[in-house]
Amino acid sequence: MRLLLVEDDVRLSAHLRLELEQAGFAVDLADNGVDAQFMGESEPYALVVLDLGLPGRPGLEVLRQWRAAGNAVPVLILTARDAWHEKVDGFKAGADDYLGKPFHTAELLARLQALLRRGVARPHGRLQAAGLELDEEQQTVRPSGSDETITLTGTEFRLLRYFMLHPGRVLSKSHLAEQIYDFAAEHDSNVLEVYINRLRRKLGRDLIATRRGQGYVFGPGTP
Ligand code: CA
Repeated sequence: MRLLLVEDDVRLSAHLRLELEQAGFAVDLADNGVDAQFMGESEPYALVVLDLGLPGRPGLEVLRQWRAAGNAVPVLILTARDAWHEKVDGFKAGADDYLGKPFHTAELLARLQALLRRGVARPHGRLQAAGLELDEEQQTVRPSGSDETITLTGTEFRLLRYFMLHPGRVLSKSHLAEQIYDFAAEHDSNVLEVYINRLRRKLGRDLIATRRGQGYVFGPGTP
C-alpha cells in the first residue's frame, strides 16, 4: 500500500515514516508543495498524509489542484491544533479527514486504516474478504469464525491487505509490486511471485488465481 507523506518538519517526517513503514505502508516523502503535487499526479498512491504549511506551495493549494484534476486519492490533512478554520478550508478543498498537531501516532494509523476500509466490509472492525479476517495491528490473518491465527511477514501482510481491499479484480504484477514496495525499492515482479506462492501455501492454493499475461485475481473460486 503506497502512501505519500507530505511534511516539511524533518524530525516529524522521519519519525512518521518509520511508524508508517512498520504499519505496512510503502512510504514516499515530499518536503515541499511543488514536489508533493507532482508526485501525487504521477504515482498511484492509496493514501496521502498532507501537512498544510509547506514551502513552495501551500498544502491546500496542492489538494485543490489534485481534486480539480480528478484525483480522488484519500487525503488526511495535518493542521495546527487550534486552527479550526484550516479544517473547514481543508474539507472544502476535498480532504477526507484531518488530525491536529501534536497527535499520537496510534490515532493517525487508526484514521488511515479507517480511510482505507471505507466501502469495504469490516464487521468486528477488521478487514474481511474471501472468508479471511485481517488483524492490521497484529499483522495476522485468520479464517472467519476460526481461532486459528496465521502470522505474516511484513511483505506478506502488505500484499494480502492489498488483495483483500480489491477482491475479484485483475491486478497486474507491476501494479502489485508498486503497491507493496516504496519508491526506493527495486520493483522486481519475480520476487512478487515468491510472495504470492507463500500466501497460497499459508492460506490455500485457490485463494489467488493466476491470469496468464494479465496478473492475479484474489477471492474464492476465481477461475
Ligand atoms: Ca509545516
